[in-house]
Amino acid sequence: MALNLVMFGPPGAGKGTQARRLADERGIPQISTGDILREAVQAETELGLQAKAVMDAGELVSDAIVVGIARERLARDDTARGFILDGFPRTVAQASALDTMLNGRDPLVIVELAVPDETLVRRLSRRRVCSDCGAIGTPQSDGPGTDRCTACDGPLVQRSDDREEVVRERLRVYREQTSPLVEFYGRRPTYHSVDGDRAPEVVAKAVGDAVDASIGAAP
Ligand code: AMP
Repeated sequence: MALNLVMFGPPGAGKGTQARRLADERGIPQISTGDILREAVQAETELGLQAKAVMDAGELVSDAIVVGIARERLARDDTARGFILDGFPRTVAQASALDTMLNGRDPLVIVELAVPDETLVRRLSRRRVCSDCGAIGTPQSDGPGTDRCTACDGPLVQRSDDREEVVRERLRVYREQTSPLVEFYGRRPTYHSVDGDRAPEVVAKAVGDAVDASIGAAP
């Protein structure tokens, strides 16, 4: 059975870290709509130009745009054995569109990473990302420009939307528009809520167990 996984949770919950790790372990693609949008911003495509202001303000890009991105990406052959969606869906409308586009594939497994707000704000203010490979890192020092990526030695930078005032808006948007997904998915037998307020390897084990329980339970 293919592992068709949705990883959702507030910004800073560890979706990206856990999705990358599990994708490597299981040999399936991690699909992050945020990464795809950031690449478009960097490349200054029409999509990127449209999305930049919205992303910098901590708001959501329109459902029509992100559903289009997800549909195109999920149509590629490398998703046949499964995929991990990281940061999509983020609204109930996106989740409904996803159900429709997956019609006929193995059932979705949904993992929510639950983390309290005070941990999120602390994590996001310290978060740095590698500007070469996109890996997530933590600064070893507070000085600017001194930290390197442990994976590829590229420079670690702060995401423009990880500034404190934008973080607060992203958390508000999450509560308002994304947290209704708990209600949308909560009654499915393949839904799991995992405590994400623990060390990354402890969370990874819990996520792996939840996923195995769902795949094993499938007919
Ligand atoms: P992320 O890297 O997942 O935190 O996404 C960064 C930003 O990209 C978000 O704050 C949104 O502005 C935009 N974005 C990413 N995924 C979505 C989505 N599924 N729906 C709407 N906006 C999104």
